[in-house]
Amino acid sequence: MLRIHSIQSLGTVDGPGVRFVIFLQGCHLRCKCCHNPDTWDMNAGKEMSPSELFEKVKRYKEYFGTDGGITLSGGEPLLQSKDAYELLALCKEEVINTCVDTSGAVMNEDVKKLLSVTDRVLLYIKYTNDEDYRRNVGCPMHPVIEFLGYLDKLSVATTLRQVIIPTLNDTEENILKLKQIRDEYSCVDSVELLAFHKICETKYQNMGIDFPLADTPEPTKDLMNKLNMML
Ligand code: SF4
Repeated sequence: MLRIHSIQSLGTVDGPGVRFVIFLQGCHLRCKCCHNPDTWDMNAGKEMSPSELFEKVKRYKEYFGTDGGITLSGGEPLLQSKDAYELLALCKEEVINTCVDTSGAVMNEDVKKLLSVTDRVLLYIKYTNDEDYRRNVGCPMHPVIEFLGYLDKLSVATTLRQVIIPTLNDTEENILKLKQIRDEYSCVDSVELLAFHKICETKYQNMGIDFPLADTPEPTKDLMNKLNMML
């Protein structure tokens, strides 16, 4: 069974084309910029079987066109790799494009199996040094780089993503390092910089916890343009 936070049946921002996006429940990390703290609890959400979900996905197949398909997001979808594999394997049989949106900090046999039926990975490289990872994500950086190395070995098409957070990673130095990572791994065919937003603040309030970046400003359009130009 897969533990689901929510479903977006016609998403356009989580992978190529129009996509059926399933946000899986549960995350072991605690990113300071997390937009979805309501996905953290491993025991919340509702359970659905891979075949039940597949029946829903199939209903939208005509909207997917040549580029679209299914995206597993979260939370951290790799934590449910075993059942996620079953769902994506069914999609592959139906020639539905499969995408996994992940922080890449989990690796085991189930994850490897899931990646064998994944057409594209949207991999968050949240920071470009270990210290920032430990301080702002709650894990070291090396498992993420090892994960990227595994994607490279398998030649899984990969989009690198990074949320730009003023004062934490909005420097030219960070973008240069991100470019270095992009150029080092041939599986990477695109990089997306996303602007940090504070729209999630009410979720933190509703959960009765502090949003660690409440006083951090959102990046300006000019800053995003400047950093994007560097890529
Ligand atoms: S990995 Fe994603 S869901 Fe987990 S804490 Fe970080 S931003 Fe939130």
